[in-house]
Amino acid sequence: MGSIPLRLQQPRKLVADPRPGIASALAASQPPTLVTFDVFDTLIWRRTLLPQDVFLSLSHHFPGIASWMRREAERVATFACRRVLRREPTLRDIYCLLPMSQAGEIAAEQRVCVANPHCHSAIQSLSRLGVRIAAISDMYLDAQEIRTLLDACGYPEMPIYSSATESCTKGDNGALFSAIWKRLGVRPSEVFHVGDNAHSDIAMANRLGAGTCHVSTPRATLFDACPSVPRARSAAETLFWGELAIRLHLHIADHGEAAASYGNAIRMLVQQRGTISQLSVDEAWREIQYCAEAVGDAEAGTRRAT
Ligand SMILES: [Mg+2]
Repeated sequence: MGSIPLRLQQPRKLVADPRPGIASALAASQPPTLVTFDVFDTLIWRRTLLPQDVFLSLSHHFPGIASWMRREAERVATFACRRVLRREPTLRDIYCLLPMSQAGEIAAEQRVCVANPHCHSAIQSLSRLGVRIAAISDMYLDAQEIRTLLDACGYPEMPIYSSATESCTKGDNGALFSAIWKRLGVRPSEVFHVGDNAHSDIAMANRLGAGTCHVSTPRATLFDACPSVPRARSAAETLFWGELAIRLHLHIADHGEAAASYGNAIRMLVQQRGTISQLSVDEAWREIQYCAEAVGDAEAGTRRAT
């Protein structure tokens, strides 16, 4: 009986740091020759609570353009492009419906985007090893617009493939993966893909035969810790929660802790919602750590007493 292919042996668990998964794939008898990364929520994190909260800052910089107008323009452009034009939408399609330049949105994205430090480090290691890398995104930003954001986040030059440019998606039966792999002349078994979306990045790539690593996101970590974090009402509020989510995500990844340990501490902060505008993210993070330690000590004391 032949051995079980490596791809089927991989644990499909969610991880904060993809580096061990990539290292394990590279150490296999048939290592991947191409390692690809999803872009948003994988290579890049937004410092906002939700992705669409980027539009809250558009209203601030372009009075009269409410965040809901931007969301509605995307909904209409996506419907028209997919159902009528039979292609994927682009940022240009969305801004055809708005009385402002799309450059403002790229600038707004640049202000809130930061590199995922785990992926940034992984890309540097792969570059040093001479392993081919690429970024693949289901996104209305085209490859050049995504390059602007990756450059701003300090990523090195790499090939970038976007659904807006290629007009097919990872989510649609992995069509974008198949098109790119064929163009690059690699077999699915030679590819390892890292991404945050369970369907588009993981299920589709696995179904086509590639190895994968499923990464968790700061937003999901924050909501795991405390599902009652409210939707942001302002650009300042979304940046507050978004930056706090990144602190929490990196901290528990470094210390191997469970997000739930911080639930009570974050719930206390949610209850003070009216006063969070007076707190810096540093102050809030210190308060959360202090509360989580106090709760942990109290629980440990209870366990010792019983
Ligand atoms: Mg993603």
